[in-house]
Amino acid sequence: MKAQDYINREDKYGAHNYHPLPVVLERGEGPFVWDVEGKRYFDFLSAYSAVNQGHCHPKIVNALKEQASRLTLTSRAFYNSVLGEYEEYVTKYFGYDKVLPMNTGAEADETALKLCRKWAYKVKGIKENNAKIIACEGNFHGRTITIISMSTDPDARNHYGPYTPGFVIIPYNNIEALEKALQDPDVAGFLVEPIQGEAGVYVPDDGYIRKAYELCKAKNVLFIADEVQTGIGRTGKLLACDHEGVRPDILILGKALSGGVLPVSAVLADDEIMLTIKPGEHGSTFGGNPLACKVAIAALEVIKEERLAENAERLGRIFRDEMRKIKSDMIELIRGKGLLNAAVIRPTKGKTAWDVCLAMKEKGVIAKPTHEHIIRFAPPLVITEDQLLEAVGLIREAFKTFE
Ligand SMILES: *Cc1c(COP(=O)(O)O)cnc(C)c1O
Repeated sequence: MKAQDYINREDKYGAHNYHPLPVVLERGEGPFVWDVEGKRYFDFLSAYSAVNQGHCHPKIVNALKEQASRLTLTSRAFYNSVLGEYEEYVTKYFGYDKVLPMNTGAEADETALKLCRKWAYKVKGIKENNAKIIACEGNFHGRTITIISMSTDPDARNHYGPYTPGFVIIPYNNIEALEKALQDPDVAGFLVEPIQGEAGVYVPDDGYIRKAYELCKAKNVLFIADEVQTGIGRTGKLLACDHEGVRPDILILGKALSGGVLPVSAVLADDEIMLTIKPGEHGSTFGGNPLACKVAIAALEVIKEERLAENAERLGRIFRDEMRKIKSDMIELIRGKGLLNAAVIRPTKGKTAWDVCLAMKEKGVIAKPTHEHIIRFAPPLVITEDQLLEAVGLIREAFKTFE
């Protein structure tokens, strides 16, 4: 079968809810993937930062294999021999009293919203059904009905109503707007991405996260960080909130929590918040399954053992410096933190970010536009300096083809 045959088959039998770059991958290792014709690419998307540890990391794959032949799923109707080990490991790793394990990022975000509302009624004392949660314009927290009820992206939101009430939407990176919204005594939480990933890698001003956290504290409002994309080494620290020394009241993780091997997500919080949910009040059949637990422990160990956050910090600086040296009228701006970066593309002679991604693909680097005019660059954090420079060379060549 040729690449086009694979593409046609997906097109015929699969829902058309994605518009992939025309490349058909069949193998991955570290920062590389190979297509069905054997061509090698630098993966500069890393499955939206799920593959921070690199493709098919041997330690994570071994953890998967060993546990897969022992026990994969018990449901939470029974205890299992691995969940407690993972719970202890992950809570100590991130410094929280408790973890609530889920599978996808969206589920973890939903869990955080439920926890926040429960806390609002049981602890803060907001009148039943009155709790409000503040979210930001341009947010991306997943695809469920409640989550898209907070979205300001028409593609994510339109024609999926009626929407879940209880959200207040304010501009991102705007402290005054937050201060104003926090005047409402029914506000229970502020949900924020420390860097908006899907929106196009919007890095807020220095001090924004710190100030936002302090304002929330002053009003007894939970500061809820969605670090599904920014967490676990991606931005040059373990968490993006670490850049400003902020410890969220509720921390949401997903994606790289399994190194891209399984859907594994988590919500972390202290007892005052987490213990408001009692048996039977929330759950997931697959959440906390032994296979996911072993994979997540291995994935988190790899982050520390291979110092991937430090690598992201160092290589991120080099990447932005090198990208800013590329002479192209199409590059309006390079921004980012650690190895979560983006180029804002100025359409030139009818050529857009999509065309740039096609040209990069021809040269051997794959990335995907987000919101038409932005290309995110997020290689696996195991990439070496030499590999990164080689990739930037290929990206430079791709931009040259538009001169
Ligand atoms: C990807 C993402 C999600 C959703 O994760 P899924 O696993 O796709 O449900 C939530 N929040 C952020 C910030 C994300 O980047």
